[in-house]
Amino acid sequence: MDEKILEIKNLSIEYPISIGIVQAVKDVSLDLHRGEALGLVGESGCGKSTLGLSILNMVRPPGKIVSGKIVYRGKDILSMRDREILKIRGQNIAMVFQNPLTSLNPLFRIDRQFLETIQQHEPDVPKKDALRRAERILDALGIEQKRLYEYPHQLSGGMRQRIMIGLGLIMNPDIIIADEPTTSLDVIVEAGFIDLLNKLRKEFNLSIILITHNLGLVAEIADRIAVMYGGAIVEEGTAEQIYHDPLHPYTYGLINCVPNINMDQQELITMPGNPPDLVNPPPGCRFEDRCPYVMDICKEQFPPLLSHRDGQKSACWLYKEKEAAPWKS
Ligand code: SF4
Repeated sequence: MDEKILEIKNLSIEYPISIGIVQAVKDVSLDLHRGEALGLVGESGCGKSTLGLSILNMVRPPGKIVSGKIVYRGKDILSMRDREILKIRGQNIAMVFQNPLTSLNPLFRIDRQFLETIQQHEPDVPKKDALRRAERILDALGIEQKRLYEYPHQLSGGMRQRIMIGLGLIMNPDIIIADEPTTSLDVIVEAGFIDLLNKLRKEFNLSIILITHNLGLVAEIADRIAVMYGGAIVEEGTAEQIYHDPLHPYTYGLINCVPNINMDQQELITMPGNPPDLVNPPPGCRFEDRCPYVMDICKEQFPPLLSHRDGQKSACWLYKEKEAAPWKS
């Protein structure tokens, strides 16, 4: 897993709106390695989906990438011409969106949607070969080949989501970005979907970026997790580090919000307060008005994301002098 295939460097994204400018993503840096599954976790509005879209330079106007680089296999995606980026979309990096009903064309059978994807990138492939390729993908997804000749409305929600993954995989990409891919699925189908993603990852040596608010889901698949809050990454580490030894008070709060069936819990623990206003964000830490450990420096200076131990990173002033998280003492 050593080969670095994607590098996001100091990326910032802004959205001008009538009352000001939303600082949706602030100075984010992240790496992705070959065969690695990276979980991008945070509450709604934290900037995780915007960050996912930016990887394919698909931030929706009036949103704008104002600084930074996205380097895929040594080339900056943000400085590529339209023709170059169109080749990369789908062929090298594929995106799976959260609602297959709005992503699949309801008027066309599934075979046509596979054909269009393949012929967009390889116009000379004969129809027969393209269909054979689609049938093989359906086999890998555990879907009967005859389903290829049905319309989206004839398939179940879980099957449609698997078709979306199939459309993402059909060009054998290096990277799949899955944005809340299980939101519309029930828990049983969701578990099957995650097993399938893990299987395909091994089979195709895929790198995966899984964008979700669901910490339980990310635990099933991610090697590494980046936690976002208010447009910035506040903690990054292996799944083991994030779940068992979080450093940032926000990550600790998020983990506490997850119900634990091994504990006799009468009530769910919630995190008080609301995410920050990203039009007028606080000058210091964006979590300061919800943080039980807030100090003077937190209100004045934005905490940088720094490595603390074994590569685990945290953006929190608590670790300027201390090593251990305060909830451990
Ligand atoms: Fe809390 Fe300060 Fe750390 Fe922010 S920087 S999470 S306010 S202790």
